[in-house]
Amino acid sequence: MSENLYDLLASRFPADRSRPCFLLSDGSAISYGALEAGAGRVAARLMAEGVRPGDRVGLQVEKSPEAVMVYLGALKAGAVFLPLNAAYTAAEVDYFRRDAEPRVFVDDAEAFLAGAPAEPLGAAVPRSAADLAAIIYTSGTTGRSKGAMLSHGALAANALALHAAWGFGPDDVLLHALPIFHVHGLFVALHCAFLSGAPMVWLPKFTDAEVLAGLARSTVMMGVPTFYTRLLANPDFTRECSAHVRLFISGSAPLLESTFAEFEARTGQRILERYGMSEAVIITSNPLHGERIAGSVGYPLPGVELRVGGDEATGVIQIRGPSVFSGYWRMPGKTAEEFTADGFFITGDVGHQDPDGRVCISGRAKDLIISGGYNVYPKEVELVLDELPGVAESAVVGVPHPDFGEGVVAVVIGEGEEAALIAQARERLAAYKAPKRVVFVAELPRNAMGKVQKNLLRDRYARLFA
Ligand code: ATP
Ligand code: MG
Repeated sequence: MSENLYDLLASRFPADRSRPCFLLSDGSAISYGALEAGAGRVAARLMAEGVRPGDRVGLQVEKSPEAVMVYLGALKAGAVFLPLNAAYTAAEVDYFRRDAEPRVFVDDAEAFLAGAPAEPLGAAVPRSAADLAAIIYTSGTTGRSKGAMLSHGALAANALALHAAWGFGPDDVLLHALPIFHVHGLFVALHCAFLSGAPMVWLPKFTDAEVLAGLARSTVMMGVPTFYTRLLANPDFTRECSAHVRLFISGSAPLLESTFAEFEARTGQRILERYGMSEAVIITSNPLHGERIAGSVGYPLPGVELRVGGDEATGVIQIRGPSVFSGYWRMPGKTAEEFTADGFFITGDVGHQDPDGRVCISGRAKDLIISGGYNVYPKEVELVLDELPGVAESAVVGVPHPDFGEGVVAVVIGEGEEAALIAQARERLAAYKAPKRVVFVAELPRNAMGKVQKNLLRDRYARLFA
């Protein structure tokens, strides 16, 4: 039996293929039947162009329903899908193309579909669970992006687990305002909708007006934390706006506890935070029915084994399970380094697990600061700073310091006096943890998924103690 992910997804499309898949802002819709036909035509064209099972098919376009057809068409043709951030420059794309060597590279999805054979490919090319379905380049937050190889089996397992965990059904309507070149918008969101045969309110990107209008007809929203802070900053976002929504999900970056609390105060709803990465899609989730706790990413999904490395309660999280990737594309050395002898992937995220299994992430191993020989976990300092009056958000990094090796620097969105803030932090933190300098900024540098780019902050303040 073929284990092509396409077959699983298409088997859940609504029996009535005229039902909508994409609900567009102009009031029109694109049906599941049209999605299926488009994917079939893409697959036929790819095969006519010589794509063989395992060949890579690259896509770098703005978000559109046609881009999704290219994704599904690539799966159907047995190819390995390779999405690239639309914002990448020519030089960046060049690196990825040379690394991944796609046989076909699509830079205009509409044109590609228009040039596709009228006759769609019938059956999907058979694939086994271990065959690759996609290569997803990591965000490059901690270094150069690596291509995470994900198999049909890994994506299918995660899709089914999330569909069940979050209670998706045919009556759901998913608000989709995420980019589709990362696992969040591409796999997590699309697969939950497809497995339900449910429609999506399809927004090319997050704009306040469109999201507010879209929420009125949605039952689930998936977002990055910045979506939620933007909604809260808008006085038009009221309890009534979200009354129709049964579930707000957040991930890709840590959700501030203040955002969680403010959101609950405004809407009466608790955001469900989950934790994932390119290398394993989703790993843990807060419960749909149990308690959702601010600052926790919840429990490992069924089938996921999770443990904390090292001898301390807090350490680097390691995982093993059905959705874990097959290695980094053309980086066997790096892949070997990131797995333990017994097959656990070393995530690089630092955290701890409660006895009942609940997980809290406290940051990335690479962001750990060593000041005067002591370990400083940036999250611990950020949590203290975020509570202080005048501080909206903070990012704590270590930069070279002549006496301490690294000095703790707090970059703060907000207003106040540097000395006063340091003094207040000193009251709550051991001296070596308290920031030695505080810099006030209007905004923190973030990538497309809303992740704070600490590497840029480290570069920017590298000479602060010089
Ligand atoms: P690179 O691996 O290239 O440095 P990256 O790790 O940012 O980049 P992604 O795979 O896109 O690339 O992101 C996964 C990371 O995002 C996780 O390892 C984790 O650090 C972070 N993350 C995702 N969800 C959460 C969450 N709910 N809370 C905290 N961190 C999260
Ligand atoms: Mg990573």
